[in-house]
Amino acid sequence: MLIDTHVHLDSFSDDEIAAILDRSREAGVGFVICAGTTVASSIRSVALSRMYSSFFSGVGVHPMDITEPLVEVDYKALSDLAKAEEKVIVMSEIGLDYMDGMPDRAWQFPAFREQINIARNLNLPIVFHSREAHKDCFRVLREEKGYEVGGVMHYFQGSLEEAKEVIDMGFYISIARPIFRLPHLQEVVSKIPMENIVIETDSAPQPFKKNRDNWTEPRYLRPITEKIAELKEMDVMSVETALFQNTKNLLSSQWDVVEKYVPEF
Ligand SMILES: [Zn+2]
Repeated sequence: MLIDTHVHLDSFSDDEIAAILDRSREAGVGFVICAGTTVASSIRSVALSRMYSSFFSGVGVHPMDITEPLVEVDYKALSDLAKAEEKVIVMSEIGLDYMDGMPDRAWQFPAFREQINIARNLNLPIVFHSREAHKDCFRVLREEKGYEVGGVMHYFQGSLEEAKEVIDMGFYISIARPIFRLPHLQEVVSKIPMENIVIETDSAPQPFKKNRDNWTEPRYLRPITEKIAELKEMDVMSVETALFQNTKNLLSSQWDVVEKYVPEF
């Protein structure tokens, strides 16, 4: 059984979501964890997790989506959502993004710090986003003791050194489709221990791809798993088993909830 640790299925229409989850199940995907990107998106993600058993949720405000400084009401909304719904099993998606045109860093820092604190208070693993901001991201995670709850560096595309730093902090490396096109990432995956890897698709609507069949969906976890097996010179089944165990370890504080909703376990 494969587990998609990071999707944005809340961005699809309700009809699409049901079909995507059906196709995922056929590909052997046991469940998905949807990341909130705003308070509104977190609310929708939580609502969807109440509709579909294989749909779990994170809550969080993405650094790209901080259109004005976050205030106490926002933090309380995220925290209350997570407390009200047991299928909220991670704090996601939070982090720092230094790409040109991104929100003011003076807004991003307090948002990241405060959301790490919410995660620690609620004992939720942290799924973090970092773009051109790895140094500061790792520093903030250390300063705010994010390692106490652990989590994942999502959509990892960094160097071997950065991967080792993430692992040293007690976080997992999440591998997605860039594994097919980035030679340096293939090398990183071949060198880091299998026990530190989880996978994701980051699935979201991709209207720029004309052929709907080519939009990334959780079912693409299958080729990602096969690629990891090839790079690590392992058989696919062993990789699948390891990825499952890693995700179970990542979610150990929440695994009783997972078992309750995914009866195959
Ligand atoms: Zn994402």
